[in-house]
Amino acid sequence: MPLKTTRKRNKWVYLFKEGNAKMRFLLGGKGANLCEMTNLGLPVPPGFIITTKACNQFLVSGGHFPQGMWQQTLEMLKKIEKQTGKKFGGEKNPLLVSVRSGSAVSMPGMMDTILNLGLNEKTLKGLISLTDNPRFCYDAYRRFIQMFGKIVMGIKAEKFEEEIEKIKNKKKIAKDTELTIKDLKILLEKFKKIYQEETGKDFPQDPLKQVKAAIKAVFNSWHVKRAVDYRNFHGISHDLGTAINVVTMVFGNMGSDSGTGVAFTRSPSTGEKKLYGEYLIDAQGEDVVAGIRTPKSINKLKEELPEIYKKLSSIAKNLERHYKDIQDLEFTIEKGKLWMLQTRNGKRTPQAAVKVATDMIKEKLISEKEAIKRIEPKQVEQLLHPMIDPRAKVQIIAKGLNASPGAASGKIVFDADRAEELAKKGEKVILVRPETSPEDVHGMLAAQGILTARGGMTSHAAVVARGLGKPCIAGCEQIKINLKKRELISNKIKAKEGEILSINGTTGEVILGEVPLIEPKMTKELKHLLKFADKIKRLGVWANADNPKDARRARAFGAKGIGLCRTEHMFFGEKRRPLVVKMIMAKSRKTRRKYLAKLLPHQRRDFEGIFKAMDGLPVIIRLIDPPMHEFLPKKEDLIEEVATMKAKGIKGEKLERKEKVLEIVEKMWEINPMLGLRGCRTGIVYPEISEMQVRAIFQAACRVAKKGIDVHPEVMIPLVCHVNELKIEQKRLENIAQEVMKEEKVNIKYKFGTMIEIPRAALTADKIAQVAQFFSFGTNDLTQMTFGFSRDDAEAKFLFPYLEKKILENNPFETLDREGVGELIKICVKLGRKIKPNLEIGVCGEHGGDPKSIEFCHQVGLNYVSCSPFRVPIARLAAAQAVLKEK
Ligand code: ADP
Ligand code: MG
Ligand code: MG
Repeated sequence: MPLKTTRKRNKWVYLFKEGNAKMRFLLGGKGANLCEMTNLGLPVPPGFIITTKACNQFLVSGGHFPQGMWQQTLEMLKKIEKQTGKKFGGEKNPLLVSVRSGSAVSMPGMMDTILNLGLNEKTLKGLISLTDNPRFCYDAYRRFIQMFGKIVMGIKAEKFEEEIEKIKNKKKIAKDTELTIKDLKILLEKFKKIYQEETGKDFPQDPLKQVKAAIKAVFNSWHVKRAVDYRNFHGISHDLGTAINVVTMVFGNMGSDSGTGVAFTRSPSTGEKKLYGEYLIDAQGEDVVAGIRTPKSINKLKEELPEIYKKLSSIAKNLERHYKDIQDLEFTIEKGKLWMLQTRNGKRTPQAAVKVATDMIKEKLISEKEAIKRIEPKQVEQLLHPMIDPRAKVQIIAKGLNASPGAASGKIVFDADRAEELAKKGEKVILVRPETSPEDVHGMLAAQGILTARGGMTSHAAVVARGLGKPCIAGCEQIKINLKKRELISNKIKAKEGEILSINGTTGEVILGEVPLIEPKMTKELKHLLKFADKIKRLGVWANADNPKDARRARAFGAKGIGLCRTEHMFFGEKRRPLVVKMIMAKSRKTRRKYLAKLLPHQRRDFEGIFKAMDGLPVIIRLIDPPMHEFLPKKEDLIEEVATMKAKGIKGEKLERKEKVLEIVEKMWEINPMLGLRGCRTGIVYPEISEMQVRAIFQAACRVAKKGIDVHPEVMIPLVCHVNELKIEQKRLENIAQEVMKEEKVNIKYKFGTMIEIPRAALTADKIAQVAQFFSFGTNDLTQMTFGFSRDDAEAKFLFPYLEKKILENNPFETLDREGVGELIKICVKLGRKIKPNLEIGVCGEHGGDPKSIEFCHQVGLNYVSCSPFRVPIARLAAAQAVLKEK
């Protein structure tokens, strides 16, 4: 049978007028937008795009152009020649093009652009007579050889740079722009020689060969290491491929009526609605970015070339209205004519993102929902950390991992105790350690920020700092810490303890000296935007707060309750600690009660403060959870102290007391304290402790209620694994609550409930729900117990390799593991609500502030998530986004 010749041929190449903005996966972002601008009738230099599909085919086939692609490219070049009246390789009016890469997802600076393609000895002459600017032409040609040599042939950039340096040194000049025509001619010859030596061939004179080689190089650049790394880091698919834009060159360097620049339709740093940008007269393409000359503010263009400014403003306005987002534009002016070379959605700071989103709602450009969708939770997070004033000049001495965002300044201290000591005196400190461990936490709490020389993104320092919302740089291997000499050394400086250091946790930069900070607060715009989020979301957002100050902060950030108030902190402090030690060591229940009675007023005061701060809102208070020995001195320390006392001949009561403490500490020693006597188990063995706490809670509640505060205490019993534990504890404690209310002569509404943090509890939730009035998932412990990981050990020893080997996709302590832990949560919710359909169920712990985990909590129908106060705004946004993702 004869083959039909009408078989539809594959289309690999598109003219700008053949595409549109929706085709970004086929044409790449840059290309699709060039098409869109062309169709909008904007002045775009003629050009065409070779598709990402062609790129993928090329790569799969091991470096062959797909059938028909080259033919189509040649056809398109002909069309461009016709449109421009120029000729590719022509001697009189040569067509020069740029070959620009561009994938569907913007990968800034990942793949290089080659400008001035089509230049050779002949077209150079043509260009000289055309432009009447030989200096520019020689410069363009030497740049082209340089770019082509580097990008296409892989010649080391230094080879060329060295030659430029040599001439500059010889002539004692500093800037490239000071090179004369003669210098450039010499350079040109040198460059050609370098090209010949490095490649064994002469610089290609055939423009078609130049194009062909450039296309291949751009295709291949998809696989270079830095592109692959970039995509891995940002989770971009490796299958997208890059498109290639071939664009007629327009020249901004043809005199004082020419120029080039970039513009934003609104300020990318503040979001202010006005044309923003920079330009250079008599310059080409990347000169603006390269910093060879200082560009002028776009405002100046209004005076210098008023007509162009007017035209540019109007194009900017139209493009923004068209794309409904900030546009980032590239333009070039050639002899008084404006050309548009690129438009894309502009990258912006978090402040600008929020301001622009709210402004665009007001301008009726976008809907509230669209505005909510556009803000990344991460941006909100950054907004709520103190930031270094971007206008400040700083001295960067090293760079590490940007482990926890925000900025801080303070005196360098090398250990946690010293940090605490100075902080108590009201000084600001930066804790600098080789790495941190749980023993350093008090110092981390006291410090403004943390810097470690070792450790990764999931190191102790990083995780704790993020939890605390403090800036942290981890794994900063460029610094050395000499703990003995108390100094920090980088290859740039040596700094002693007490000197001022600043860290930028957002970028990982370590800075010497003080930096001006911008205070975090909810801007008017953010508040406004989050109000829309609140209208959309169904999941409640509560906060974890252990003291009135945090409670107030949480409320200011929009928390609608306290999901976790930990009471163990209430056992620390100068006055309380000795009482706690005596209480634990008491031989009889009676003595223990005596010390507990002394502790009670302290705790009551804490609770009163929190209830006042949360007037009208629920407060979940968790009864004491950690193992008791955590409140006692360390065994190793005691052994040493006893030994020293004996060695010094100290005898009598003092020694006996020490030995007594040691004996008790040894008796309390547990092989695995995290799975030992803690949580509700403590209350069952020492009922008087939880009794005291409940008494304090209800005395506080009753007393503030009498003052007109609307209190909603909810008492949470931790670490329950069997309903019988709860039956005993809850009953006993509710009796106490009743007793107190009788004594105080007030009745208040309260709840008793439990934390679900042991798999057995989740699996028997129907039984537990018969007693508990609420559930709260302690997802940290639940994750530990489900995985069988101890978090501290995992993060210190094997979690990082697990992530690297992709055994786990995420750190399950940061992002809830839906498959395992999530399944338990689902089962638990189902069983619990079977018994009590309106059972209040929430999540407390770090996961409550993680957007992906929040989405899951929304999906399984929890009532609320509770997170640290500064994450409340993030959670409000994420909860709304979870709703918007449903549709
Ligand atoms: P990037 O992705 O690095 O921005 P581009 O492909 O946008 O790379 O180009 C780099 C620079 O060259 C930009 O300043 C751009 O405006 C300029 N440029 C690209 N093509 C042309 C052209 N045809 N005429 C003039 N300048 C161009
Ligand atoms: Mg660009
Ligand atoms: Mg727990």
